Amino acid sequence: MNQETLAIHHGYEQEGLGAMAVPLYQTTAYDFKTAQTAANRFALKELGPIYTRLNNPTTEILENRISAIEHGAAAIATSSGQAAIFYAIANLAESGDNIIVAEKIYGGATTLLTHTLKRFGISAKIFDSDNADDLEDLIDDKTKAIFFESLSNPHISVSNTDKIVQIANRYHVVSICDNTVATPILYNPLDKGVDVVVHSASKYITGQGLAIGGLIIERDELNQKLIDNKRYPQFNEPDESYHGLVYANLPFPIFTLRVRLSLIRDIGATPAPFNSWLFIQGLETLALRIKQHSQNTLKIAKFLESHPKVKSVNYPGLKSSPYYDRVQKEFKDGYASGLLSFESGSFEFAEQILNKTKIFSVVVNIGDSKSIITHPASTTHMQVPPKDLEKSGVTPGLVRLSVGLENVDDLIEDLKQAME
Ligand SMILES: *Cc1c(COP(=O)(O)O)cnc(C)c1O
Repeated sequence: MNQETLAIHHGYEQEGLGAMAVPLYQTTAYDFKTAQTAANRFALKELGPIYTRLNNPTTEILENRISAIEHGAAAIATSSGQAAIFYAIANLAESGDNIIVAEKIYGGATTLLTHTLKRFGISAKIFDSDNADDLEDLIDDKTKAIFFESLSNPHISVSNTDKIVQIANRYHVVSICDNTVATPILYNPLDKGVDVVVHSASKYITGQGLAIGGLIIERDELNQKLIDNKRYPQFNEPDESYHGLVYANLPFPIFTLRVRLSLIRDIGATPAPFNSWLFIQGLETLALRIKQHSQNTLKIAKFLESHPKVKSVNYPGLKSSPYYDRVQKEFKDGYASGLLSFESGSFEFAEQILNKTKIFSVVVNIGDSKSIITHPASTTHMQVPPKDLEKSGVTPGLVRLSVGLENVDDLIEDLKQAME
């Protein structure tokens, strides 16, 4: 079945009253009815709800749906995108290990992966995901994961996934791709051989800026990479915290199962059932929305490129972009999602544009139906020293847009008057 159909129907069988909408199971716990059922669920002899920190019927529909839409084998939902990234890494690496992280990723992921994890003994090495020429040399015996974004936020660059996957597979290292900005409608990293996809559901999946959430999806047959792989004894040796369970012996996709049974169980960053329900509503229209976001953004990018006061525009859907060919080849219908940035030339002019726009809101979020404008140098990248700023492409005059679903002519008019 195609993604649009899966997004509306997959994983939900009507029962009882025949409710058309997925029911919201706003509950903490579940009645097992018999002692035997309770014992079977804990022993994994029978799958079913135990306690909402571990699983919930509404959240499970979201998990099954996103897994189908991303062409995966299984998924687990978390309370935020940051939690999804943390669990995906913590499932692979422990104190003394290292991970390899793309230079151009979301700021929150950078601080988590390079600073916070260091306090737990996991160190990060940085690579250039545009080309991945430096990746192979960074891998050693203690390398447990390679992390990158398909379409990066806020740099709006497109990674060389094929090359990253080739190198990861040569060394039997798990690759993790954050697919938040591209969305599963435009790009499916698992089809390219990536092992694990993570999402911040807080962006295009909710689509209207309604809730914070995250998702982890594993590819089909990832078990084969994990089983008997010396890098990952945690999947092959008895788990003392779970009665000596050996994940490699289970007939399920074991990556997300281990996140559930050992990480979510203990750390507990689980989604609220109501938020899962909101993400289910968002997924239903994701395919329609992301196309419109992409079309609106391309029109605005072309308008800005032709504007005499704009120095340059960064949008992978533009022919002038170094990522244009990659997007045309790999992204659905050449759509490049809803983020663009442009160089206004000065801090003062950038400030003027932010202050004078009426429809665009000054907000540090992306993927909302409502258009958003940000000035990275004075907000998200404020703590970065000036010399490092230039290196990461964040100049004083850089303005970033997350283009929403308003009428694009109104958005262009708004930008035009703000630049006068
Ligand atoms: C927002 C974002 C995150 C973090 O997600 P939260 O849901 O805010 O925790 C991670 N990756 C990318 C690419 C993002 O845009």
